[in-house]
Amino acid sequence: MKWSILGDGVTGLCVATALTQAGECCEVITSNHTAASHWAGGMLAPYCEAESASAYVTEQGLKAITWWQNHIQTVHRQGTLVVAPVRDTQELHHFAHLTQGHQWVKPHTLEPDLADSFEKGLFFSQEAHLNPRHALQQLKEQLKQRGVMFHHQAPSGKIVDCRGISATDTLSNLRAVRGEMLILHSNDLEFSRPIRFLHPRFPCYLVPRGDGQFMLGATMVESQDTGQITVRALLELLTSLYVLNPAFAEAKILETGTGLRPSFPNNLPQIQYQQGKHFINGMYRHGFLLAPILAEQFVQSISKS
Ligand SMILES: Cc1cc2nc3c(=O)[nH]c(=O)nc-3n(C[C@H](O)[C@H](O)[C@H](O)COP(=O)(O)OP(=O)(O)OC[C@H]3O[C@@H](n4cnc5c(N)ncnc54)[C@H](O)[C@@H]3O)c2cc1C
Repeated sequence: MKWSILGDGVTGLCVATALTQAGECCEVITSNHTAASHWAGGMLAPYCEAESASAYVTEQGLKAITWWQNHIQTVHRQGTLVVAPVRDTQELHHFAHLTQGHQWVKPHTLEPDLADSFEKGLFFSQEAHLNPRHALQQLKEQLKQRGVMFHHQAPSGKIVDCRGISATDTLSNLRAVRGEMLILHSNDLEFSRPIRFLHPRFPCYLVPRGDGQFMLGATMVESQDTGQITVRALLELLTSLYVLNPAFAEAKILETGTGLRPSFPNNLPQIQYQQGKHFINGMYRHGFLLAPILAEQFVQSISKS
């Protein structure tokens, strides 16, 4: 066995995909830790993320949308709609100032089920979303079909460590940014694209998952606590949801969850080589947006060495 990838989150699976496509042989070592990837929203939002991220995230994230479209069947390229309450319209203007790739719209023309109190919105037509659990499952199936083994046993090849937050045992400057989220079900409401709700205190986003399901997220807390969602997080997220449409009051809560986003001090991912092992980590809030890019960079780097 040539390569042993530790971790089957989005980073590990993208690395395994890139390696096998380059003709390399690999195995994936799994564990019982739940991946942050399992809780992700699945937004591929390179333009919106520029609100708080560098140009690198936008440039590379745009390439990653194409990567996902080439690798899985269920990428929805319906754009992102950003809204704010009328009294917080300045938030929307500030967001527009920090980002590109948008146009001003009347939110209702795109999403008739939004509450009619939203007068203006920003539409990022080139953005996309996917269901992270389906996407990971599809990558895994493709890898198995190419003969990649997934197992819990000791690695037998050169290590590529993609353990996310578990790698803090070696990567001393890796920290956790806790994200709390919910999965809801409503038969009464339909949305086609992620809705980002700007609010000075309770921002949130809603990602449609099909069949009446929605992911509502997510908090950003500097904490490595993996415990259950807090009352505060639940109250804040649901309060904002209610503003998007009061009919969400009748939605069912199917699931709540907490994931730890593995993050370096500059919130950008890195490829490192330490103690004879490769590390690919620090995806922060951009695992789905950047893991394909880091995976390809990694494969290019080993082909040169
Ligand atoms: C609520 C929430 C919403 C998010 N929304 C988005 C979004 O919309 N778009 C986006 O791009 N990103 C989003 N993110 C960020 C994204 O989820 C993370 O950046 C990404 O999941 C990190 O992936 P990873 O594979 O590096 O780590 P993880 O997903 O945490 O995977 C690490 C893997 O390593 C395994 N592991 C641990 N220890 C060992 C061991 N000893 N041996 C073998 N395996 C081991 C674990 O089991 C796990 O499978 C969100 C995150 C959260 C929490």
